[in-house]
Amino acid sequence: MEYDLKNKTRAELTELVVGLGQKPYCADYLFTFIHQKHISNLDRITPLSKSFRKQLADAGYRISSLTLLEKQTDPDGTSKYLFGLPDGGSIESVRLTDKGRITLCLSTQSGCRMGCRFCATGRIPFERNLTAAEIVEQVYQIESESGSADNLVYMGMGEPLDNAEETARSLEILHDEKGRFLGMRHITVSTCGLADQIRRMTEWTVQPRLAISLHSADDLLRQELMPIARKEPLKRLMEAIRYYQKQTGRRVTFEYCMLKDTNDSHEDATLLIRLIGNLKANVNLIEMNPYPGCPYEGSPPARIKTFAARLEKAGIETVIRFKRGRSILAACGQLGAQRLKGLDKKGSG
Ligand code: SF4
Repeated sequence: MEYDLKNKTRAELTELVVGLGQKPYCADYLFTFIHQKHISNLDRITPLSKSFRKQLADAGYRISSLTLLEKQTDPDGTSKYLFGLPDGGSIESVRLTDKGRITLCLSTQSGCRMGCRFCATGRIPFERNLTAAEIVEQVYQIESESGSADNLVYMGMGEPLDNAEETARSLEILHDEKGRFLGMRHITVSTCGLADQIRRMTEWTVQPRLAISLHSADDLLRQELMPIARKEPLKRLMEAIRYYQKQTGRRVTFEYCMLKDTNDSHEDATLLIRLIGNLKANVNLIEMNPYPGCPYEGSPPARIKTFAARLEKAGIETVIRFKRGRSILAACGQLGAQRLKGLDKKGSG
């Protein structure tokens, strides 16, 4: 990671090149060639002198890349990408289109430590955090074959705030005007609710939109759905969100996956309104996407609509997110399901 030039912000590259006796503008060339022209071979960064390129290579510096192993596309236009990591692991990313707008769903870890019970990724073994380079590379590879994205969501495999340093670094890189130069209004980081990290986000150089995976406004049910809620009860989480809003003035999105006869009743809606009604917030109700062996079923569409209507009536802006990419297991909560099938086979074999 230390020797990966793609993993450095422009400020870090400047420090590096100046330390090697070069002019600061050489860092701009490096950054632009890596993050705008997507060059992964030092020798192709020809504005830099041959001797400096050799100096970098001799010191062990390189530019990392991901290997695209597989791409699958659902009839609804959603595509899922399987990328190989240099040390043998793999991650998945998703490209969605909606009314002509393209959204990329990015992974921040290979596997996930949070173990949410409705999510396939939570059931596969955690391998490691991704580097910032591996996060931004997902964007570059998908965009180079399918065109520019309008929005990025950090909602793929992994918990972004369990890998906060690399997540924040990737945002700084993506936002840089000499690189991809993506506006922060177009990037959403979603967390299952790590309270201390939400507070720390207020100090990040680049501020994305924040989404909270809530899924229940009842502590006990939330603990059943998301084991992390035992460490992060709602009181602690809501205090952190209030602090975040006080510091940043930003609206927060609550993600709520609709699970049949579990969190979709009239009382559940009432609890949710009570919990977030006085915040600057909106809600995304997500149609459940079961993975093979998932213990939950999705709520029927009529119940989702009734739930949404109750929230709207209470003045909470609510959007229903319908299932996408189901035939290729690319929907929310389904990433890693393919690997899960392999694990289950091993387990049963
Ligand atoms: S929902 Fe997110 S945080 Fe929970 S297990 Fe899945 S990837 Fe991890």
